[in-house]
Amino acid sequence: MNLEAHLQPNLVLDGPVTRLTPEILQKYQIKGLVLDVDETLVPIREQKVSPEVLDWIVEIRQVSALWLVSNNISQSRIAAIAQAVDVPYLFGARKPSRRKVRQAVEQMQLPQNQVAMVGDRLFTDVLVGNRLGMFSILVEPMISPTATPRPYSLRNVEVALSQWLGVSLKITQ
Ligand SMILES: [Mg+2]
Repeated sequence: MNLEAHLQPNLVLDGPVTRLTPEILQKYQIKGLVLDVDETLVPIREQKVSPEVLDWIVEIRQVSALWLVSNNISQSRIAAIAQAVDVPYLFGARKPSRRKVRQAVEQMQLPQNQVAMVGDRLFTDVLVGNRLGMFSILVEPMISPTATPRPYSLRNVEVALSQWLGVSLKITQ
């Protein structure tokens, strides 16, 4: 498979992870979610999980198994967030390496195509999800309202490069 196909999300949400509803999971027969942490669940410079995300976790866990898999090497940060949402976690995952994401999927005991990899980044989250034959979901980054916009973020570079390669990032939900 070529890089373009590996970078193509199965689903592009028009907002942050909290826009993912039980109805969307049902539509695509998704029974488990592997969630990225930084800028998917919590803005990078914040420690606390927002009330919106906490409410979303309560709703979505009724229909889906959940794991957090982060590339962040700070166990204290990821453990604190995982504890706040009461979801098991793996950190230092080196996505797009498959090892730890595969480990999380195995713990769920679900077929890989019924588990979605959910994240804000194409070259880590979407790529590892597609490499494993999972359903891949690209979300808008969770950015704190007080943060200054970063037009030259790595995410934007990835978006531009992927589109140049032919990846479609049209909202598909
Ligand atoms: Mg992220």
